[in-house]
This record gives sequence, structure tokens and C-alpha cells, in this order.
Amino acid sequence: MRLTDLAPRYDLIVIGGGITGAGIFREAARAGVSVLLVEARDFASGTSSWSSKLVHGGLRYLQTGEWRLTAESVRERQRLLREAPDLVERLDFLLPSYRGVKPSRGLVRLGLWLYDRFARDAQARSQSVDIAASLAIAPQLNTHNLLGALQYQDARTDDCRLVWRLIEQGMRDGGTALNYVRAEQLLQAQGRTCGAVLRDAETGEMRETAATVVINASGVWAEGLQGQGIAAPRLRPLRGSHLVYPHTRLPLPCAVSFFHPRDRRPVFAYPWQGATLIGTTDLDHREDLWNPRMTRSEADYLLEAFDWLMPAVGLRLDEALSSFAGVRAIIDDGDGKPSSASRESAQWSAPGFIGITGGKLTTFRVTARQVLVQAAKQLPALRLAAEQAPLFDQPRQESPALAPTAQQMQARAGEEVHHLDDLLLRRSRAGLVLPDFGESLIEPALMACRSTLGWDEARCLSEASNYRSHMHQQHSVPD
Ligand SMILES: Cc1cc2nc3c(=O)[nH]c(=O)nc-3n(C[C@H](O)[C@H](O)[C@H](O)COP(=O)(O)OP(=O)(O)OC[C@H]3O[C@@H](n4cnc5c(N)ncnc54)[C@H](O)[C@@H]3O)c2cc1C
Repeated sequence: MRLTDLAPRYDLIVIGGGITGAGIFREAARAGVSVLLVEARDFASGTSSWSSKLVHGGLRYLQTGEWRLTAESVRERQRLLREAPDLVERLDFLLPSYRGVKPSRGLVRLGLWLYDRFARDAQARSQSVDIAASLAIAPQLNTHNLLGALQYQDARTDDCRLVWRLIEQGMRDGGTALNYVRAEQLLQAQGRTCGAVLRDAETGEMRETAATVVINASGVWAEGLQGQGIAAPRLRPLRGSHLVYPHTRLPLPCAVSFFHPRDRRPVFAYPWQGATLIGTTDLDHREDLWNPRMTRSEADYLLEAFDWLMPAVGLRLDEALSSFAGVRAIIDDGDGKPSSASRESAQWSAPGFIGITGGKLTTFRVTARQVLVQAAKQLPALRLAAEQAPLFDQPRQESPALAPTAQQMQARAGEEVHHLDDLLLRRSRAGLVLPDFGESLIEPALMACRSTLGWDEARCLSEASNYRSHMHQQHSVPD
């Protein structure tokens, strides 16, 4: 379906196909209203593909006093583990403790005790282990001043698959979702928002579509869509970057999390899709919001941490498979270190309009329901599904831990793919976790696009060339 096939009017238009928009779309589609979601590029191509991919309470939010957010996140983690076992998996963490290193072992234990209370899950209970047990799990650990370690559990996901599956579920429940369609501006009449001007990014075609309520869930771009009486909060974009290594270079059986020796920020490494992910940084992003890149100093910062924690490994930058960077929408409180800035979401509204930005991947379901409770005040036909209603009809044969394969390409080419990077970088994560940006899967991916999407030879050649140059520009390891 494209712009020309749209109905002239919807009850709800959701702008932005990241986790926030996808969560709202999924809940709205089963709430008895007509809903249209538009995404300017590919689904999940914004911040939601570049997160750390942890469905977690966030131990560090306890450090910054965000208890409510931590408790809510842990509850949501538990729920997703139950309801989406193919998308969200348990992940064991090892947090080594060192003499003289802050925060102290006692303080971290206290944080984990709270974590356990919030989760009420015997399987996820944290515990202390001694030096020998710590080294049996991660023999690469620096032994100087090592006191032992704390073990706890969180969960990992594939952020892009999570977004896609919410959108797919919403479409199955009657919603309409279009990628590569941008909301250019809001339509307004008689002091209220009454729709949006939409533009097909592929054909340039424009169309006005009416709606009773428009929801702006465009993340870090949210300030861009303004209108009469709409006062979006001022945002402070913060960038976080990651490096991806071959698993053989950093073969960890679980996640390892620790505090950076330079500034005591939490950093981590964990096995993901057959590779090892290490992250993350946290700094003000003043460059282009659409194409964030990891810088050399961020890469050096991460390597410095691992040189300290695992000196014998001797991790080198040129051994990394890829890098990626994402930008958080943080509400600008005017001051403070990036890592102390609140990760809570912000909502604002006006007649016919609701804006939502910030927050976490983990809490998308709660955010979606809060936004729709507001929307229902302007749209009485909207009846939210019961709080206990499961998110998905049924689980699939997927796992965020497994490496991408050629077989995945055939089925996933039919998942609203428009370009080769949609398939190799988001429907599958081959571009990030396989050597040479997934070069070995380009041919199988193109074959799938030939048979499913009817691409001819010329289209295949230009898609492959665009994909390679995009990967070099955005995801190569910084010089
Ligand atoms: C480095 C980093 C690590 C993180 N790690 C975690 C983690 O481990 N766990 C966790 O829970 N959270 C994590 N987060 C937070 C989480 O990733 C974000 O809160 C979440 O992805 C934001 O989703 P969103 O849908 O609001 O924004 P986005 O994903 O950015 O979606 C907004 C979408 O709107 C689209 N758009 C913009 N303008 C328009 C327009 N005019 N018309 C149509 N579409 C438009 C964009 O293309 C984009 O796709 C992390 C964030 C970062 C940056």
C-alpha cells in the first residue's frame, strides 16, 4: 500500500516508526479505532536500531535516583520475557568488583538487592561469587585487586525485530503502516490539529490526510513538527556509540558490566547475534541527527575500559567488525553531565495533538498506553485492550542471540523492505555482525529481493553499491 491507497481520514495518525510509534500503533490497532503510522525512512531506522539492545531495569538509573523508572523497567522486562520469549531473552551479567574502585561492592549489592525486589523472580536473583568462580566465568579478567564479582540477570533483544514485530502485529489487527513516508507538516483548522501533510520519500507525491488526533512520536526529531498552541520541550540530543567484535576475539559466555576507570560510567560487553557488542558512550551530539557516527575518541574511550578490565586480551580497534551510534532524545534541563540527565519520557498536548519523546526501549508498552489514555480523552471510541492482554498473538522461531543466515533473507524480504539496507541492516543485522558488513549475504539477499520484490539486474547493482557505501560511511570503525 502507498499514499494513493490511503483513506482520506483516520481516527489516529502516528508519526514515527521507532519503538515509541510502533508500540502506540500496536495498542491503537486493537483499540477499536482506525490508525495510520508513517515513518520517514525505514521502520526502526532512527534511535531504535542503535540502542544497546538491553531490556533492562538499568542499574545506573538507581545511581541517578530514578527509582520509579527502574522499578517500571524491571516489571516490563519480566513481562516481555514471559510474552515475547522469541524477541527478549534472559542475559546473565557478571559485574567484577575491585578493591578501591567506586562504586563499592557494598553499594552495588544494595542496588542489586533492590533490583531483585522489583523483579520478584527467583530465577533472576543476584548473588556474589568469589575470585575463583569469577575467573572460571571470565578468565580474561584483570586479577589485580580483584575481590570477586556480582552476578545478576537482565535481558537482551534485537531492537529492530521488536519494532518490526509490533508494526506487523498492528497491521494484522487492521492498522496501516507506511515506511518511507514523511509527515511534512501538521494540518490545523479552528485552533486544533486535524491531520498531516504526508510525502512519499520515494516518489515525491504529497497528500493531506485528516485525523481526529495526531501523535508525534518522532523521537529526537520531535521539535521539527510544530503548530499553533503546540509547545514541544527543548531537547538535548545525547549520542551513545558501540563497537562490534567477532565473538572469537572476545569470547564471553555472558555479559560483563563494570565501571569505566576514567569516569565511573557503566560500560559492558555481551554476546549478541554471534558477535560481541561493547558499549557505550554518552555525550552531547551537535552534528547531523540523521546520520550519527562513532568518533575515534569514543572508540578510544571504550578500548581504554577493556584494556583495564581485560589487559591480556589486547583488543585492537582494527579488529572490530563495525561500529554504530544512536542519539537519545533527552529533555534539556539546562545543565548537568550527560549521564546524570533523566531518561524519563516527556509528553505534551494540544487540541487534536499529542507529542511524546524520550524514554526507554524497555518501557515502550507503558508509554504507549499512557499516550493512548490521553488520546482517548479526544477520541472516545478508543478503548484500550485490558492491561493483561498479551502483546503478540504468538511467538516465532527467532532469537536475538543467533547469528544471521542466508535462509532468513527470503522470508524477511517480504517485510516491507524497500532497499537492501532495510533487509541486511534492520530486518536482519547481518551488516553489523558479519565480516565485511555481511558481504557473504548480499547475493542471497538480492536473490530474495529479485523473487519477492521483482528487482531487476540494474536495481540489484545500484542497491548493492548504495549499501556498501552506506556501510562504509556510517558503520566502519573510526580512523
Ligand atoms: C546509545 C543508546 C543506547 C540505548 N540503549 C538502550 C537500552 O539498552 N535499553 C533501553 O531500554 N533503551 C535504550 N536506549 C533508549 C532507546 O533506544 C530510545 O528510547 C528509543 O529507541 C527511542 O525510540 P523512539 O521511537 O522514541 O525514537 P526513534 O527510534 O528515533 O523513532 C523516531 C522515528 O521518527 C521518524 N521520523 C522523524 N521525523 C519524522 C517525520 N517528520 N515523519 C515521519 N517519521 C519521522 C524517524 O525516522 C525515526 O525512525 C538507548 C538509546 C541510545 C541512544
